[in-house]
Amino acid sequence: MRYDVVIIGSGIAGLYAAIGLPKTLKVLLINKSYPWECNTYYAQGGVTTAYNDDDIPLHIHDTLDAGAGMCNPDAVRLMSENSQAVIRDLIERGFSFDKDDENNLLYTKEAAHSRSRILHAGGDATGRHLHFFLLGQNPHPMLSDTTVVDLLIENDQCCGVEVVTDGKRRLIHADNVIIASGGVGSLYEYHTNASTISGDLHGICIEKGIVLESMEMTQFHPTVFVANNWARKLLLTEALRGEGAHVVDDNGYRFLFEYDQRGELAPRDIVSRAIFDYKKRTSKQVYLSCEDFESEYFKERFPNIYKSLLDLGFHLPKERVPISPAFHYFIGGIKSDLDGKVPQIKGLFAVGEAACTGVHGANRLASNSLLEGLVFAKRSAEYIQHHSLRHCIGEFREGTEPLECFGDKEKKDALRHIMWDNVSIVRTTEGLQEAKKAVEIMLNDEIGRLLKLRLLSAKAIIDGALNRSESIGVHYIIAD
Ligand SMILES: Cc1cc2nc3c(=O)[nH]c(=O)nc-3n(C[C@H](O)[C@H](O)[C@H](O)COP(=O)(O)OP(=O)(O)OC[C@H]3O[C@@H](n4cnc5c(N)ncnc54)[C@H](O)[C@@H]3O)c2cc1C
Repeated sequence: MRYDVVIIGSGIAGLYAAIGLPKTLKVLLINKSYPWECNTYYAQGGVTTAYNDDDIPLHIHDTLDAGAGMCNPDAVRLMSENSQAVIRDLIERGFSFDKDDENNLLYTKEAAHSRSRILHAGGDATGRHLHFFLLGQNPHPMLSDTTVVDLLIENDQCCGVEVVTDGKRRLIHADNVIIASGGVGSLYEYHTNASTISGDLHGICIEKGIVLESMEMTQFHPTVFVANNWARKLLLTEALRGEGAHVVDDNGYRFLFEYDQRGELAPRDIVSRAIFDYKKRTSKQVYLSCEDFESEYFKERFPNIYKSLLDLGFHLPKERVPISPAFHYFIGGIKSDLDGKVPQIKGLFAVGEAACTGVHGANRLASNSLLEGLVFAKRSAEYIQHHSLRHCIGEFREGTEPLECFGDKEKKDALRHIMWDNVSIVRTTEGLQEAKKAVEIMLNDEIGRLLKLRLLSAKAIIDGALNRSESIGVHYIIAD
C-alpha cells in the first residue's frame, strides 16, 4: 500500500487536512475505532473566531494573556488572523452555526474572553455537528478500527506508518504523514476524552527522538460530573458558567470569589485549583448550579447536557449537579511549525491536539482548540500541495514486539491512578518522583507495545513537570 499522504486521526484536524487535499492525491485517513470516537465529537461549547478584523488584536491579547507569557506570538497571530477565513469556509461549504430569529450568527462568551466571539452549533453539540459535517465533506478513503503502532522513518524522512488492523500488523507507505491523533486523556483516571485518546503517537515520537514540547502543560476542566461508571466523564461546558451558572458548596455559597475576583469567569486552571482546594480544605461537596436559567431556554441552549443529566437523574436547570475537576486538554505535544511541519523529519506533520504549535502557551483560552485544529490542518494541507512530493524509499519490516502482555490491563489502570494522584492539578516534587519511579518500573517489566507507548508519554509529562520547578499557567507545583 502506497499513498501520497496518510493522515493519522479523523477528528477536526485530520478531517480538515483531508478536505484541503485534492482527490488527485492518493490520501488515506486512519482512525483507531469508530470514526466518531474522538474528542472533536464530544466538543460542546464552540469554536472561537475573531468577531471581526477589529477584534483580532483583542483575541490575540486574550490568548497571550491566558498563555501566561509562554505562547508563540507568531502562531497566535496566525491563528487569529486566519480564524474568520476558516469559519467562512465552513459556512460556504454549508455548515450551520446557531443563529437568532433574524438569521444572525449567535456568538457566546467563555471564561477569560473579553467579548462574545464563540460560535456554536446544535446548542451544546458543536463538536458532534461539526464532525458529522466534516465526515460528509471528506473526499478520501478512511481505514477505521486501525491503530498506528509505529512511524516508518529512515534518514530523517517519514515514509509511512505501521498499523494493526484486523489483528494483523501491516506497513502503509506514504510520502507524507500527518499526525492528527489528539491528546493523552486515557493516561488519567478522571478525564473527559474519547476512549481512543491515549498519547500513542507521542510515545512513538519519543522513541524516534522527535522533539515534544510543553509536555507538563495538561489542562483540567473544573466542572465535570465524574460519578458515572464510564472512563469518559461528563463535561459541563464552560459556556454554562459564561452564561450564568454558579459554582456553589452544600450551603449555596459561591466560594470561588475567595480565590479570584472573576469568580466563575476566572480561567479554568484557577477555577479547577480552587474547587480542588476548597473540597480538600472543607470536605464539602461542590456543585454547579444552573437555577438562574429559565427552563425552556436551558433545554434549547444546552439540549445534550439537559438530556444526559436527566438520564442520570438530575433535573436541570433547577437541580444542582455535583462536580469535580478532571483531565481535559493536552496543551503540550509534538513540536510543529506554522505549517504543521515537524522540524527534524521530512514528510512528517503534526496538527490539532497532538501538536504543540505554541498557541496555548501555559494555558489554553477556552474554545481556541477547535480553531487551532482548523487553521493548522489547512496550512499543512496547503504546504503539502505546494511543495513537490518526495518519493520515499526505505526498507522497513513489521515490528516483532508483542502488542499486549499478560497484566497490561492492571498496569494501565495503575498508571491512570498514579497520573491522577501525582501528576494532576496540584503537583509536588516528591509526588512526581514517586510517579516517575512507578512508571520506570513498569517500563522495565515485560509489557506490550501499546502500554509501552502510554508509559513513555506519561514519563515525558512527568519529566516535563519535574523540570519546571515554578508554577505557571496550568502547571501548579508546590515546593516539598
Ligand atoms: C468533552 C470535550 C469538550 C470540548 N469542548 C471544546 C469546545 O467547546 N471548544 C474547543 O475548541 N475545544 C473543545 N474541546 C477540545 C477539542 O475538542 C479537541 O482539542 C479537538 O477536538 C481535538 O481535535 P483533533 O482532531 O486534534 O483530535 P481528536 O478529535 O481527538 O481526534 C483524534 C483522532 O486520532 C485517532 N487516533 C488516536 N490514536 C491513534 C492511533 N494510535 N492510531 C490511529 N488513530 C489514532 C482517533 O481515533 C481520532 O480519530 C473539548 C474536548 C472534550 C473532550
